[in-house]
Amino acid sequence: MNRTSVRRAFTVTGVVQGVGFRPFAYATATELSLTGFVGNTSAGVAIEVEGTVDAVDEFGRRLQDAPPPHSVVESISTTELAARGGSGFRIDESVSGTGRTFASPDLAMCSECLAEFDDPNDRRYRHPFISCTNCGPRFTIIESLPYDRDSTTMRPFRMCAACAAEYSDPSDRRFHAQTVACWNCGPTLTFSRGVHGASIGQTAAADAATLLAEGKILAVKGIGGYHLACDATDDDAVRRLRTRKRRGDKPFAVMVRDLQQARSLVDIGPRAASLLTGSRRPIVLLESVSGALSADVAPGGRDIGIMLPYSPVHQLLLEHGPLVMTSGNLGGEPITYRNDDAHQRLTSIADGWLDHDRDIVVPCDDSVIRVVDEVDRPIRRSRGYAPMPLALPFTVDPVLAVGGDLKNTCAVADGRYAWLGQHVGDMDHLATLDAFTDSESHLETLTGVRPSHVVSDSHPNYRSSAWARRHSDGRPVGSVSHHHAHIAAVMGEYGLEADAEVLGFAFDGTGYGTDGAVWGGEILHAGYKGFARVAHLKYVPLAGGDVSVLRPYRMALAHLHSAGVEWSEGLSCVRACPVPERRVLRHQLETGFGCVPTSSMGRLFDAVAALTGIRDIVDYEAQAAIELEARSRHIDSGAYRFGDDVDPNPVIRAIVDDVGAGIDPGVIGARFHRAVANLVRSVAERSRARVGDLPVVLTGGVFQNPTILSLCTAALRDFTVLVPRVLPANDGGLAFGQVLVGSAS
Ligand code: ZN
Ligand code: ZN
Ligand code: FE
Repeated sequence: MNRTSVRRAFTVTGVVQGVGFRPFAYATATELSLTGFVGNTSAGVAIEVEGTVDAVDEFGRRLQDAPPPHSVVESISTTELAARGGSGFRIDESVSGTGRTFASPDLAMCSECLAEFDDPNDRRYRHPFISCTNCGPRFTIIESLPYDRDSTTMRPFRMCAACAAEYSDPSDRRFHAQTVACWNCGPTLTFSRGVHGASIGQTAAADAATLLAEGKILAVKGIGGYHLACDATDDDAVRRLRTRKRRGDKPFAVMVRDLQQARSLVDIGPRAASLLTGSRRPIVLLESVSGALSADVAPGGRDIGIMLPYSPVHQLLLEHGPLVMTSGNLGGEPITYRNDDAHQRLTSIADGWLDHDRDIVVPCDDSVIRVVDEVDRPIRRSRGYAPMPLALPFTVDPVLAVGGDLKNTCAVADGRYAWLGQHVGDMDHLATLDAFTDSESHLETLTGVRPSHVVSDSHPNYRSSAWARRHSDGRPVGSVSHHHAHIAAVMGEYGLEADAEVLGFAFDGTGYGTDGAVWGGEILHAGYKGFARVAHLKYVPLAGGDVSVLRPYRMALAHLHSAGVEWSEGLSCVRACPVPERRVLRHQLETGFGCVPTSSMGRLFDAVAALTGIRDIVDYEAQAAIELEARSRHIDSGAYRFGDDVDPNPVIRAIVDDVGAGIDPGVIGARFHRAVANLVRSVAERSRARVGDLPVVLTGGVFQNPTILSLCTAALRDFTVLVPRVLPANDGGLAFGQVLVGSAS
């Protein structure tokens, strides 16, 4: 064996801070009898090891092959140095440097911590803030990098002797865990209820559980903000929460104790099970199989959003049944996350409060994912995912993309990486604009990106675009077409090269078109640099904008008008429209007054839902389409046919005939879904004949419909089909596409 000492420096980049990298390096080096040091730099982790060639090589191998479970190693570079002797291996206090490191997302409580949490003999038995190097909050408590306790909101909590001993013991799994805490030194859980005074710690958790058992509503501070919780099996409690929150019909998410309890409520496949129990813990949309929950949890749908506890505070509350766990906000506003603010804004909703004194730096809503045919289809990418970096297919200058006005997220990018911030929400509230400003600046802090230009949607009246102009500070502000951004985001997600071309289907509700029309049923031949419109859903007049979005019966009447079908009283969508409104609407449709042409596929789904009588008026975006799909799922009973040039008129006429013949709305819906899938197939075929075999991108909010997605991917089985699986197909992924289009040229 070669006994000569060598010394080697390793620089590791990626998600390597807050994921136990320094303890890992220490433990590995110690085991291999290597001397040297490890430290965080703002570029990542810097390591120097010295020992025999074999041991140093082995160290490099483990770094490569078996890094800590939640790290994402982007690159490892090595430099040979002269041996210099020394003894022991040390962890250096963080040194600043140049370059960039990636902050970790928040991590759900790990199984080792859970075992301690459940062990009456453990000193952290039922501790609400138990965590280790592999779990606990990160993104939401980090104020700046490098990641150390002093740069997080754990700073005020001085470690007790026992915690400090674990923190500095290389053989301990809390070695250098920045969130380490216990009953003696950690944050405090507090319960309060009106004038009844307050309790702390275990008593607080027990009091909160009692409140829930009484059918009351609890505001509970978790990782990324406040939730409003109530017993999900209690009709009165759920209804009261809906009324107080002004929530309308939008489904509530439900937190269950464990996978077993989840299985008693919903159908869970292998991928969904691993998402539910993994370290990211999103809400997973799953098909209901039981009537155990209150019908008011998810009215009109067949899916329920399920999640498992991800913080020890939740664990304390989930001893019993499933709980509704919905964001702590009033309808439409951003999630509350500061104690004083929450107590003000949620005071009319909550009957009691479970708070704690560890501050949240930025709010972060729960992520939402649907699994379709065993593949992740994100609906909201937020807690547990933000701010994981996304690789770019080409190098970009530092840029900020502000996203769209619905389901907003923003993104920064530089070099070969982009970072998407957490879900901000719909930009129609002043409070949301403030949340956007905070999210953007936190993202800049954590990534070190200083954008030299800004990109926004081309819609002239988007609030996000106005924000970009207001905050440009003289930097150029570019604009990107909505549906081009949708398609480019998917190209980027799949790493398509800078000069790649695709056939993109972007089907959604609304996006500003280059001709000023409201686009939304778009088939584009696209690359990053530009696009040509291959086809689009034939225009119908959209009368009165938002009014027609909220009242699908108006879209049904518009489509009937275009298809030359009489507005007969026999149709429920006609009856739903008051006679005076009908008169004005007819005048508008005939003269074009107050109308904008639209090719929106989302609005066509609305119209069909109204034609079948499933829904005339919606309470939240896409409700009509969601309920139409819920009724149609699993039904296979033929298909309607679109006309040439993507003309929906033959479909509308066939639906009216079926409605007249008393055909079940679910069957009509199923025939419509298949018509859309066949349409996609035929347009793809025709385009293949014309422009050759291009990958086919399916994106836009319409493809969040699991039936449409399954049918379309099946119909395109002999094509290369790219569907978003990392980012949402809805406007939540738009900013990533803006980065790519805005940087390509
Ligand atoms: Zn842990
Ligand atoms: Zn302690
Ligand atoms: Fe969109």
